[in-house]
Amino acid sequence: MTLPVVPIPEPGESLRSYVSRLEDRNNQRPGTLARVHGGGVSADWAHLSELTGLPQQQLRCLGWGDYPGCIVGARGSTGWRLRQAQWWCPTCQLLTGAWQRSWELACLPVCLSCGTALSTYPAAEHEPEPVTAQSVFKDIWARVRQSTTSRRARQWLGRLLRVTRLLAVTADTSWPQPMPAAMVTDLNTWGYHPPDSPAAIARLLPFAHRLIGTSEERPILQSAFARLERREPPIPRSLLPKPPRANPTTTYPVLATVPSAIDEQRRRRPRRSRRLRCQSRPSNSLR
Ligand SMILES: [Zn+2]
Repeated sequence: MTLPVVPIPEPGESLRSYVSRLEDRNNQRPGTLARVHGGGVSADWAHLSELTGLPQQQLRCLGWGDYPGCIVGARGSTGWRLRQAQWWCPTCQLLTGAWQRSWELACLPVCLSCGTALSTYPAAEHEPEPVTAQSVFKDIWARVRQSTTSRRARQWLGRLLRVTRLLAVTADTSWPQPMPAAMVTDLNTWGYHPPDSPAAIARLLPFAHRLIGTSEERPILQSAFARLERREPPIPRSLLPKPPRANPTTTYPVLATVPSAIDEQRRRRPRRSRRLRCQSRPSNSLR
């Protein structure tokens, strides 16, 4: 049986938002049509499809069901998906009444519709800053959308998460880039879950995005791991990138130049020519 009022999903709307609007328009209590929890929305797709008259595939596109672990979390890590905080763009939300799906990802702390920085619901903790790195967030959003089919996009997003987390937990007001103390305090709390502040992540993320795959990545990560030793409480290493391998030419110069005792012994031993070795060997034909 179809519900009396069935709103059309807004472009980019999240499943949680759509279910909430559906319940509200039909005077249903929150949680009646689908179960909303910290990890998202658990829906009976066939039942929801029957209630709305919308195809299951269209409804599934509102959620994160097809997305990989680097987005929705897996094996002890939350991925980029926000679990505790709720971010929003007051301008767009009040205009359409819908919450965008992209607002649920910590790697997208800006509104892709109007280009302004998101705020923590119901109020911003920091003054929203003008977002200058729009191209960075558009690139991240493109990779998020590719992640359902592209292994390369999944690996890149996973690496971006681990590198950004490492930089966040080791950041101070001057490293790896100048940042206000309040943002640093927020970033330092990044553990399994991203911090609540979209402004702080919006400041750090373009730096990490620029860093990956460049020659600067190794020295910056080495500095970060050196700083990590002083961090309390320690953060599980599984949440961080692998430490960069030390450069052999700088770490082991002695081993590379001084010959070993065996090499020295071989060098001193007089070499016998192949011809002499053949002559001294007893021959079967003479016996
Ligand atoms: Zn907006």
